[in-house]
Amino acid sequence: MNFIPQIKKYLQARHFNAVQPVAALIDMDGTLYDSMGNHASAWHRMVTELGIDMPRDEFYMYEGRTGAATLDIIFQRAYGRNATDQEKAELYHRKTVYFQELPDVNPMPGAQQMIDTLIKAGLRRVLVTGSGQSSLINRLDNDFPGAFTPQLRVTSRDVTKGKPHPEPFLRAMQLAGVKPSQAIAIENAPLGVKSACDAGAFTIAVTTGPIPREALEEAGAAVIFSSMQECADNIHMLLLQLLTTTLDS
Ligand code: MG
Repeated sequence: MNFIPQIKKYLQARHFNAVQPVAALIDMDGTLYDSMGNHASAWHRMVTELGIDMPRDEFYMYEGRTGAATLDIIFQRAYGRNATDQEKAELYHRKTVYFQELPDVNPMPGAQQMIDTLIKAGLRRVLVTGSGQSSLINRLDNDFPGAFTPQLRVTSRDVTKGKPHPEPFLRAMQLAGVKPSQAIAIENAPLGVKSACDAGAFTIAVTTGPIPREALEEAGAAVIFSSMQECADNIHMLLLQLLTTTLDS
């Protein structure tokens, strides 16, 4: 695949002469794990019990936000106010319990191959998740051994502003000791793509659920793959083209 037009478009927009990838900043839900269906179902069950009518698929669009930020959206719509801290604690806990009652989620097909390629290419890997849900975060070491050192993880506990704010990806760059022109990001959700793009990273989006490609494009993704397997099969070529493409080449 030829990514040079997309690379040049990104370089022009950012006023960079080149991208020299040193770190890969990687989302978790919907990117490493096929977990978004369960998250949407758990949110939907919780709001339905509150008597709030929201379509299940709407929760895919909120992906990346912290639980507290999602609850504020739900409460603003239903009651015209933000949720209180106590409501946030109780309801996010309830959503987490419902998530855990659902069948186990699996690693996304192709995710391990994608990680292996990044490791072989010598890129530092940083986890960047809006989740605070320890059930999945704790599985990472088993499912993706060696992928992320404990120091190179940004979760909802490490930021004051979650995605779509750029803070999570800026924090990830800081942890990895890289500039935006040395970072690629891998995301599946529009809010995550926006966060990564606003932080300045060359952002690769992967469609892994019902979110349409256009929403990822609109959020600013530089390259979009239609599955994680496609991403895994092409990311080596993309890295090579990033290394060899400059604005004036
Ligand atoms: Mg995601």
